[in-house]
Amino acid sequence: MDEKPIDKHIILDELNELKDLDHDYSDGRILGSMCTKAHPFAKEVYYKFLDANLGDPGLFKGTKIIENKVIESIGELLSIEKPYGNIVTGGTEANLMAMRAARNHARKYKGIVDGEIIVPQSAHFSFKKAADMLNLKIVEAKLDNYKIDVESIKQLISDKTVAIVAIAGTTELGLIDPIEEISKIAHENNIYFHVDAAFGGFSIPFLRDMGYDLPVFDFSLEGVCSITIDPHKMGLAPIPAGGIIFRKEEYLDVMAIDSPYLTVKTQSTIVGTRSGAASAATYAIMKYFGKEGYSNLIKELMVN
Ligand SMILES: *Cc1c(COP(=O)(O)O)cnc(C)c1O
Repeated sequence: MDEKPIDKHIILDELNELKDLDHDYSDGRILGSMCTKAHPFAKEVYYKFLDANLGDPGLFKGTKIIENKVIESIGELLSIEKPYGNIVTGGTEANLMAMRAARNHARKYKGIVDGEIIVPQSAHFSFKKAADMLNLKIVEAKLDNYKIDVESIKQLISDKTVAIVAIAGTTELGLIDPIEEISKIAHENNIYFHVDAAFGGFSIPFLRDMGYDLPVFDFSLEGVCSITIDPHKMGLAPIPAGGIIFRKEEYLDVMAIDSPYLTVKTQSTIVGTRSGAASAATYAIMKYFGKEGYSNLIKELMVN
């Protein structure tokens, strides 16, 4: 750190020079990226809420209402009337929360201590991080034509299974696993089922509405316990905006930790101090586009 203050212009010159080394979404040199340039309106709103800390929602009551409203809007997109969840930093944190909920739930209600998660070989690497942090063992389900092989899942289920994971929109190929079948199996076996729609969540529902023949992947399937869906992937929200949606409040409850110095008694998120700006910007951009706006954007993407 410098001893003396430095003039703004000098600092900005240095930062701009370094920023010039970055690729820009508009310069045509980024061929593959899961994220996009955020919408200018979302950025405007983001800036307004920079100071809002959802880690202490008693102090930021309005922003907390906004987060609840976004979760409701995303829930509606995913066919659930009363969703629970949070806007988090991204798909990685969302998947980590889902695996933590599944592990804690299985520990509390089934007494499973050294749990396993069944994850397809095509899964995002965030599940490896989650398993490492949560001390869970990953058992990999085989693929059949790049999608999860349902028979393989059946064979891997054991009395240590705390969760099954499937993907709606794989990172590499955009494929959707046979989620309806897996949902049935998970439900019959009373196993937590998580759907990772980090990438596909903000496109598949609109594509289905437009008449594309894509399978159901959401809470209308009774076995689905949680869904990861990232506004910063295909939703045009600024980074960091990931979404984790739970079917029941008890999945948040099993993660609750006492938070003594805050205005709320417990906290279920992994992150403490966390951005309210992400929630506000996501709320704004979802309202601004509406289903029609997103569908039009996606239509353009599919045709071009
Ligand atoms: C991108 C992605 C993630 C991770 O999301 P981050 O926002 O990068 O943390 C998880 N799952 C899938 C399917 C993804 O495409």
